[in-house]
Amino acid sequence: MIELEARDRPSPNHSCRAEPARIDMLVLHYTGMATAEAALQRLCDPSARVSAHYLVEENGTIWRLVPESRRAFHAGVSCWEGESDLNAVSLGIEIVNPGHEWGYRPFLEAQMEAVERLCRDLVTRHSIPPHRVVGHSDIAPERKCDPGELFDWARLARAGVGIWPPANPPASGLVVDPARLPDDLASIGYCVSAWSQMAALVAFQRRFRQGCCDGRLDVETVVRLSEVRAAFTRSRATTGDAPHTSKFKASSSP
Ligand SMILES: [Zn+2]
Repeated sequence: MIELEARDRPSPNHSCRAEPARIDMLVLHYTGMATAEAALQRLCDPSARVSAHYLVEENGTIWRLVPESRRAFHAGVSCWEGESDLNAVSLGIEIVNPGHEWGYRPFLEAQMEAVERLCRDLVTRHSIPPHRVVGHSDIAPERKCDPGELFDWARLARAGVGIWPPANPPASGLVVDPARLPDDLASIGYCVSAWSQMAALVAFQRRFRQGCCDGRLDVETVVRLSEVRAAFTRSRATTGDAPHTSKFKASSSP
């Protein structure tokens, strides 16, 4: 176990986990607020009813807000692999960035180094498998776009956190078949329906095809879908994990 250098700033916004022994998911966010201090204040404000387990500043300072054993309020209405109430089973990290609303900008080296260290520690101690490391936009594609297309998922995967398969150029003569899209997205873990398919595709692009996130099913996106789908299938096979089958149900709890 790595001894984390973290400062404490306890948030009152947490509750008990329904299954205390089960922590098997890691959700990454950006704060989406003008300053780190504004984000810390909101995450610790009892009336806001939001929180996360950790916050990482741009200079690399790590704040511990909620004990890992407790259910923090970061995912909201969300779904992955058919399962909702992801706050109950996950750890959440807020990464300081003004976000798309206040001036989205690249994540700094000192910050990424701290995020990498923190994530490695969490996935190691809790045995969180790579296919259970997600961005907020992956689990709430219609509401959220964090941590966004500037976040370096490839770097984290090189450090053993999450999945980033190498990208190959499209083969000539590849046919784009929109009918396969729902199955491809669901096989990765996205919860899709006819009305949420476009948002899920944009979330997929923000995560795995970051150069262009326009929601179009172009040839490059089709190739990337099949690479990512195969990598998630391999990860589940390696860890002997079957996708959770509980039916998607929107959760109204914070
Ligand atoms: Zn978020």
